[in-house]
Amino acid sequence: MTAWTTDISHGEMLRDGYDQTLTIDPANLQFLYQGVSPSAHGLDYAKLPWQLGLIRRVTAGSSGLPVPAGSGVPKPSGAPGGLRVLNWAGFKAALSYTYDDALPSQIADYPQLQATGVRMTFFLIGSSDGNSPTWAQAARDGFELGNHTEHHCYADGTGCASYAGSIEAEYDLCTAHIEQTYGVSNVWTTASPYGDTGYDAVAATRFFLNRGVQGGQVAPNDNSDPFNLPCYAASAGETASSFNSAIDSAHAAGNWLIFLSTRSEATTATLPSTSRTCWIASIMPSPRVTFGLTAWSMSAHTGLAKKPCRAPRAYNPEVTPSSRGLCPDTSLLGNTSA
Ligand SMILES: [Zn+2]
Repeated sequence: MTAWTTDISHGEMLRDGYDQTLTIDPANLQFLYQGVSPSAHGLDYAKLPWQLGLIRRVTAGSSGLPVPAGSGVPKPSGAPGGLRVLNWAGFKAALSYTYDDALPSQIADYPQLQATGVRMTFFLIGSSDGNSPTWAQAARDGFELGNHTEHHCYADGTGCASYAGSIEAEYDLCTAHIEQTYGVSNVWTTASPYGDTGYDAVAATRFFLNRGVQGGQVAPNDNSDPFNLPCYAASAGETASSFNSAIDSAHAAGNWLIFLSTRSEATTATLPSTSRTCWIASIMPSPRVTFGLTAWSMSAHTGLAKKPCRAPRAYNPEVTPSSRGLCPDTSLLGNTSA
């Protein structure tokens, strides 16, 4: 029997309902996936004739075929292979937008961010995210809620009003807070407070990736440290043109560019303006699928915002209240928070 496809784009378990619990019925497992005929290799990605396939558990014998033996069956023979990984889900480049520190401006501007249709990542500080229902709404809308620790200390416990006693506790309190307060169960990523690399080793015990604050981009299968990922930190006074230049450079190089902003206004202006298509997603679009894959290819996701780049929004500088200065790394980065 010949496989109808050797090229799976992505797939997902079919759930029993459509609420946030993601319930599946073990007695009726179904996996929906998207594949393409081997004859389509070489076509432009946008023209690939994708087809859907469904893998179902079939009660033994009901198909009319012989019931397979339950054990003692040899492994399939032949050389493994035939699965092609598409970088950035087949797009030329990838963009992620991350917002640190759970600042009030991010809550106030959430409708504007949501209206872009792009799923972004909010790295929340457990003790000072305002317990806002906006974060729960963001999670329901497909945004990612990431872990920016409970108290936003340096790795040695300084630089904050309170400290949980260990990096582990800082992470776990924040994750528990996000899960319990906003009804999510997928806190898979983190960003180190102040970009302090002293967090990196512990981050690796709990998360899929950790965003740092140093400049740079990620190339497919390069040697980027997944627990100190580089980013482009938005600076005060920057306009869409400088962000677009960064996007253009990532696009030209076929890289993944991660934006970091604390104020939402600045990064709202970074929505790409070219007609090029980019793959835009939160920093961790679909952890359930991404685990086990080559991280930096990030190709077999589901739930992605595969969107054409959008026109820039007007840059809307605003006076920054000092109350937004939760994160001293913003001054380090030249950001606008005091
Ligand atoms: Zn921060």
